[in-house]
Amino acid sequence: MDPAESIEPLIRVMALHALEYCERLYYLEEVEEIRIADKAVYDGRRFHQQLPEYVEITSYPLQSDTLGIFGKVDCVRSEGGEWIPFEYKKGHSKNYEKDKIDAWPPDKLQVAAYALLLEEHFDRTISEGRIYYAADHRTVRILINDEMREWVKRSIERARYLRKTIKRPPISKNERLCARCSLAPVCLPEEERLIQEGKEDLPRYFPPDRDQVDLHILQHGTTIRRSSGTFILENREGIIEEVSSESIGSITIHGHSQITTQAIHLASMKGIHIHWMTSGGKYVGSLVQSVGGTQRRLRQYEGLTNESLTIRLSQSLVYSKVESQLRYILRLTRGTKERDHHEENLQIMRESLRRIRSDSPKRDGLLGYEGMAAKAYFNSLSLIISEEGNPMFFNGRNRRPPRDPANAILSFLYSLLYRDAVQAIVTVGLDPTIGFYHQPRSQAYPLALDLMELFRVMLCDTILVGTIHRRQWDVEKDFETAGKQVWLSEEGKKKAIRAYEKRKQDTWKHPVVGYSLTYDRTMELEVRLLEKEWSGVPGLFAMNRIR
Ligand code: SF4
Repeated sequence: MDPAESIEPLIRVMALHALEYCERLYYLEEVEEIRIADKAVYDGRRFHQQLPEYVEITSYPLQSDTLGIFGKVDCVRSEGGEWIPFEYKKGHSKNYEKDKIDAWPPDKLQVAAYALLLEEHFDRTISEGRIYYAADHRTVRILINDEMREWVKRSIERARYLRKTIKRPPISKNERLCARCSLAPVCLPEEERLIQEGKEDLPRYFPPDRDQVDLHILQHGTTIRRSSGTFILENREGIIEEVSSESIGSITIHGHSQITTQAIHLASMKGIHIHWMTSGGKYVGSLVQSVGGTQRRLRQYEGLTNESLTIRLSQSLVYSKVESQLRYILRLTRGTKERDHHEENLQIMRESLRRIRSDSPKRDGLLGYEGMAAKAYFNSLSLIISEEGNPMFFNGRNRRPPRDPANAILSFLYSLLYRDAVQAIVTVGLDPTIGFYHQPRSQAYPLALDLMELFRVMLCDTILVGTIHRRQWDVEKDFETAGKQVWLSEEGKKKAIRAYEKRKQDTWKHPVVGYSLTYDRTMELEVRLLEKEWSGVPGLFAMNRIR
């Protein structure tokens, strides 16, 4: 029977190997369906392809509906009338010393599972399995007895049980396993140890940056098509650019350009996200690769319908946002003669912070304090931006539509940020439509709006102030006006995108986890820390602030 047809899906023997290594790894790979092929995985595959000729791999596929498992043993040999399953491993054996070697428990379980499959297949007893460890050039013999058979059956039962739960098993107690685990950047075990055991100086598993860039298509009339593994950008005059699919993480199409089905297909295969924005800079929608099964979303729904959790998360979120606003104004006015003009606004922001913490407010109360602080913050920002001689006038935040160049820049930057927030949430495997602070009033995804609050100051407001102070805008060329509405011209959008994408690659030290990473990666990290809030390890989300 095909595994897909059975009522209780069969379990891969390699999944039992993962289960014995760490139950959490089994759960992430087999239940949540997250698989990352890291260097060790590729090395293992290459090792099997490059074994010397005298090592014969027959790769025998086996399956048992009675046992509920299937897999492919590397080799089956006949010796003295006995059938022996063989596995080849690239690394060292356990306890390797001159004359004392043993196999690792996950390897033993794997070979024992193959032995049980062979017993059923040949209808005869298998009494031995062998594992060859290439790094030691040694073979370990595994006795297959009743104890081993029971171990395999118990493991299958455990694997079946875990498949039915939505709760992720705890992290492994053995830290050394995490150092070699391909899913450590998703699992983030050290961040949990930080909370549970107060450990500092964490080994870092979360990558500090990405080596891919985000491609923006601004020129109207561009077509993106596919040629093998490359995206070809062209218009009526011919080819504009050829971009390798290996070098990009996302494609954002601004306005009226086209992407062919074949190019969308290539993007999907390579995990490249596609976003669409209007010519006016408004987010339209995305095609984002998601990972993880339904368990992640079920945990999210369960967590975000818990009122005390949503209030606590909202408090942390609003506190983080207002504290970043306060710190930013303090930083911009430190040592200046204008500082006194900001005292009243600073006081309002400080008071808002005090109340967010001490009043234990409900959502409406938080909205009130957030609004109070935002008004004071934008008052101060207006004073700072609209200093004498600056052609970029800013008189507080206005939107829908923006009515001055500074607000046009800010609205566009926030749209880019929203796009990244959606991407980070869906990439992690969560549902952006279920948030905890924002309500589903508009078409915008509430969880993406929630996440944005942590990054508005550090990714967008800093760009607005910095570029205006460096006189980087040309009021005539970079903006277009229709009635009271102002938006960025194509030239203006290019400048904003350059500044935004560059800012995303800036590195900073996260104040809680204590390691450095780009702002780009911080967004995904925050989503993973948010997920831990309802997975039994709270206290890490929304602790980031601008310095
Ligand atoms: S990182 Fe550690 S705890 Fe997480 S799945 Fe891997 S081995 Fe298990």
